[in-house]
Amino acid sequence: MTLGEPWSRGVSRDESGVVAVAGVGVHDLAAQHGTPAYVLDEADLRQRAAGYRRAFGSAFAEIGAGVDVYYAGKAFLSLAVARWVHEEGLRVDTATGGELAIALRAGVPGAHIGLHGNNKSDDEIVTALEAGVGRIIVDSLVEIDRVAALAGARGLVAPVMVRVTTGVHAGGHEYISTAHEDQKFGLSVAAGQPSARSAGTTLPADVAPDERPAGRAGARDALPDSPAMTALLRAVERPELHLLGIHSHIGSQILDPTGFEVAARVVLTLRAQLAERTGVLVDEVDLGGGYGIAYLPGEVALDPDRIAKDVAASVAASAADVGTPLPRFSIEPGRAIVGPAGMTLYTVGTVKPVRIDDGRTRTYVSVDGGMSDNIRPALYGAQYHAEIVGRRSDAEPVLARVVGKHCESGDIVVHEVQLPGDVRAGDLLAVAATGAYGRSMASNYNQVPRPPVVAVNAGASRVLLRRETVEDLLALDQG
Ligand SMILES: *Cc1c(COP(=O)(O)O)cnc(C)c1O
Repeated sequence: MTLGEPWSRGVSRDESGVVAVAGVGVHDLAAQHGTPAYVLDEADLRQRAAGYRRAFGSAFAEIGAGVDVYYAGKAFLSLAVARWVHEEGLRVDTATGGELAIALRAGVPGAHIGLHGNNKSDDEIVTALEAGVGRIIVDSLVEIDRVAALAGARGLVAPVMVRVTTGVHAGGHEYISTAHEDQKFGLSVAAGQPSARSAGTTLPADVAPDERPAGRAGARDALPDSPAMTALLRAVERPELHLLGIHSHIGSQILDPTGFEVAARVVLTLRAQLAERTGVLVDEVDLGGGYGIAYLPGEVALDPDRIAKDVAASVAASAADVGTPLPRFSIEPGRAIVGPAGMTLYTVGTVKPVRIDDGRTRTYVSVDGGMSDNIRPALYGAQYHAEIVGRRSDAEPVLARVVGKHCESGDIVVHEVQLPGDVRAGDLLAVAATGAYGRSMASNYNQVPRPPVVAVNAGASRVLLRRETVEDLLALDQG
């Protein structure tokens, strides 16, 4: 029987209670690869990648616009995963030289790779330029000059997008909109922000996005250009740059289309203003990533078909309102492609009942990994779901907390979950939906070697990333 969300589509449980992924039982996985191990359901990942491409492709075709789907490699990148998403028609976003190297080594064409980052090194920029990446997303005025200089010195023209902040923040079930942003990414569309021209000047802080100067004259004399407009103008001016378009990323784990729609309207308005100022109507608009998934039973992931239709209808209306033809769009899902496709398989060690304040007992179930393989609960208070997967149990469920083996009381994998009361050492326990930001954020805290990533497909498993060993750790130590 298939378990359903938040597990990947290939996860099922047989009559004896043993769980399998794509036909491979967890006892076999544990015997072959050890625990802890990240287990990735290849078919599920490919289906999600293809599903996003199809959903957005057809919804945007309906409004007469093209769309590219970039897989946000920071969620999890390996040679195989880069190849899979490439085969499913996605492009790949990278944010560092390391991610870029993996995408290139996997055979993703440079033209299908984007380079992000708020503090790219010259090496990273040069590598990207020499690989012929399709786009460098620039994040500051100084970076515009640096990319232009590095491209110019090589006789190249760098394709760039300018990352803007629209004031829209989304995540979970809500979005909020603020004029001014206190974060490191992007360039604000709000006038009255310090930019290169006005740096150091104190300006009115109460300018809402919809009060921004609308056109060329009048209001523009009252307020300096927004940092976003200043950056776009500079990118247009530099002959070593080809300004492809405008980029906006509004958040993570978004479950509602409103934030994307409001941000898209702001970006399309900015695009029209730039065209009015310079005669340059940029070709592309990127709406970023952040498509939400189910982490717990009963949670409902964002449906790509529905969100694609909603966002397409909304951007078509916004473009008509501002009176410009539609650009080509792109989106950057990471978590939504790889998150649900992955689970982590652990072995239970110590089981300890602890009396808590309200008189209840909480059963602390320690597993052989922890915050080094999944930092998200400690970092964000992220919630996960766990089950005993190696056997059936008819024991009464108990209130349990799944914890790791690290020297830190915050080393929690699952804050609260019902597990069978007879949970015991040696049980196999799986945590669902760990494919994104699990291995990619893993550390060697306590000198714990990082677990392998094992792909499963059609009844067979293979190692994508091998388990680290203590020898690997010692090899770095120069004594
Ligand atoms: C993190 C990030 C993404 C991917 O976010 P998900 O929540 O994994 O979809 C996409 N674009 C940018 C610029 C990001 O920083």
